[in-house]
Amino acid sequence: RAKAEGRNTVRFFDPGMQAAADRQIALEHDLREGIRRQRFELHCQPQFDVAGRLVGAEVLLRSNHTGLGLVGPAEFIGLAETSGLIVPLGAMVLLETCRVLARWARDPRLACLTLAVNVSVQQLRQPDFVERVLAALLETGAAPDKLRLELTESVFAEDVEAVAGKMHALRAHAVSFSLDDFGTGYSSLSYLKRLPLAELKIDRSFVKDLPEDANAGAIVDAILGLARTLNLQVVAEGVETQAQRDFLVAHGCALLQGYLLGRPVPIEAFERDWGSAGQEPVR
Ligand code: C2E
Ligand code: MG
Ligand code: MG
Ligand code: MG
Repeated sequence: RAKAEGRNTVRFFDPGMQAAADRQIALEHDLREGIRRQRFELHCQPQFDVAGRLVGAEVLLRSNHTGLGLVGPAEFIGLAETSGLIVPLGAMVLLETCRVLARWARDPRLACLTLAVNVSVQQLRQPDFVERVLAALLETGAAPDKLRLELTESVFAEDVEAVAGKMHALRAHAVSFSLDDFGTGYSSLSYLKRLPLAELKIDRSFVKDLPEDANAGAIVDAILGLARTLNLQVVAEGVETQAQRDFLVAHGCALLQGYLLGRPVPIEAFERDWGSAGQEPVR
């Protein structure tokens, strides 16, 4: 039977595995189609300082494919990475992010914000990564000093010298870098200071257990101490409760991001909520 279905058909005996493989294939097809037809949208989550001032935002990718229902990035980013589709997808996200920044530059309420975008290690690995980022900035007219690229600790599994070289090249053009999900990967502390980073993001898994869990508290404290020593900005991710916020503020965390303060919303909604167009005229 398997033979009759042709060479390219893989058959598993376990129906669960078969279903998973089918979904994987359907998703990959969907992803390819989505990239071709540009069926992705950018959402954006605000970041605040401890005084409650909006200081920046993070771009988060959403797919609005209908075929398989709403697929969150947790599922499709992994697939985009294993299939290599993250490179064209990431290029699209980067260009769109730069377009947003260029638009924000014309709005006095949005012009000062830093906009962060997640960059996969596979994008960074592209030999012409630096040129691609600079081209996106040039094409859109976005200000490089407002663009922040979020990397994860997976960069430490790469050729760190090569990674550092690309980061320095972009740094020279005022693009800044943030280390996302900090504490969950394999950071080498000696490497940490070799990368030109502006910021660490405390992973949500540590924030989640604050303030009750003593271990989480100790880890967050250690990260804040490390960041102070290395002169890095810190953002806590996934702040959901007032108690978490209070702990973070009391322990010297300067920037906060999370559902308590603002959920990711479509860019247009963000602009309506925070830009000049959406504001009541001052009387
Ligand atoms: P991340 O970069 O660490 O982004 C933060 C994630 O935490 C987002 O999930 C955000 O919606 C979620 N989040 C923010 N505040 C809270 C909170 O208070 N509570 C909870 N429970 N969650 C919160 P999202 O949008 O599902 O993205 C998941 C991951 O997918 C991102 O994690 C990032 O690693 C990846 N990702 C998203 N967009 C892109 C992209 O354009 N390119 C790449 N390479 N990766 C992306
Ligand atoms: Mg991120
Ligand atoms: Mg993160
Ligand atoms: Mg995360």
